Amino acid sequence: MKHIIAHYHEIALKGKNRPFFVNKLLDNLRYATKGTGVDNAKDQGGRVILSLASDAREDLVKDRVSKVFGIANFALGYRTSNDVEVLKEAVLRHIKDKAFKSFRVSTKRGYKEYPLTSMDVDRIVGAHIKGATGAKVDLTHPELTVFIEVLSKEAFFYTEKFQGQGGLPVGTGGKVACLLSGGIDSPVAAYRMMKRGCSVLFVHFHSYPYLSKMSQEKVGDIAEILNQYQRSSKLFLIPFGDIQKEIVLRAPARYRVVLYRRMMVRITEAIAKREKALALVTGESLGQVASQTLENITSIENAATLPVLRPLIGMDKGEIIGQAKVIGTYDISIIPDQDCCQLFIPKNPAVRTTIEEIERAEKVLDIPKLISMGLAI
Ligand code: ATP
Ligand code: MG
Repeated sequence: MKHIIAHYHEIALKGKNRPFFVNKLLDNLRYATKGTGVDNAKDQGGRVILSLASDAREDLVKDRVSKVFGIANFALGYRTSNDVEVLKEAVLRHIKDKAFKSFRVSTKRGYKEYPLTSMDVDRIVGAHIKGATGAKVDLTHPELTVFIEVLSKEAFFYTEKFQGQGGLPVGTGGKVACLLSGGIDSPVAAYRMMKRGCSVLFVHFHSYPYLSKMSQEKVGDIAEILNQYQRSSKLFLIPFGDIQKEIVLRAPARYRVVLYRRMMVRITEAIAKREKALALVTGESLGQVASQTLENITSIENAATLPVLRPLIGMDKGEIIGQAKVIGTYDISIIPDQDCCQLFIPKNPAVRTTIEEIERAEKVLDIPKLISMGLAI
């Protein structure tokens, strides 16, 4: 019977909050591995152990575990007794068919009362492997590393470690509402907040039927990819075309982009409050486009009362693209679509607005009516 042995970042999970974090992590792992053949998930000796059924789909389990936030690294390994005589035989049985000329043993103890030190275990198991296989011990560049973890009632061993997603378990940081466009940036912003333990709901503004349905299909696919890193969450698709039309009809053209954004912020905030989300999230990065100057960011944020989080604010486009590729959203984001903000775009959008001029421009709009138009879905 195989097991996943997963390690979390000790430092992040210290103190009184530890059971809360660890329980969330276990919950999330159970949810993520549902249907893959994981029988049991428990916290033991400072690591998480998942027991796999004999017909478990190992690659799928590994893929799912690799996407759960809160895990630094993990391995697929075997369980045995922590009696070193039994342990050394079990290790040998599992590695004797592997081809290796050099090896090392690396033991960690999750049970400090164990009568042998980690080095003792390294030496005893190492000597046994050496005697049986003739391979030499190489502590710096071994062809094979045998990792052993000694716990209070059992031991685990494995020969390969996989990188975890890092971060904090989703659900430990509260809920946030992400303004999700079909573009490259906002999916990465949502991912970064999940990584800090937030569960993220998505709000997308589209201009259907003025523009195509493509952006809605794209965000649907993007949300599905992002939900692999959290539990499934809601995606709100807000018809924005008629709201834009009102803005276009009544307000000065150069303020349109900022006014669109302020309406997006207000409608998202109304949804956030209904859904008990504590903050808004955008994919803004300073200076990337005209609407992302500090002045315009200030004008847009002024429409919000909840905090607006911008996890990408100091990142370059190249860095964001790199992340989007790793997360898996990039290929969908670059599919050409018709973004609602391309609708009625003025020739000379105001690059540096002030709150005063924006509020003056907005006086002609019936804001509560526009908000309820967006919410009437
Ligand atoms: P992205 O790559 O996320 O589309 P961007 O570089 O195109 O961002 P902007 O168009 O200025 O930048 O949008 C800034 C942020 O506003 C986006 O990251 C997103 O959070 C939000 N946003 C823009 N358009 C929409 C939309 N149609 N629906 C929801 N949110 C949007
Ligand atoms: Mg965009």
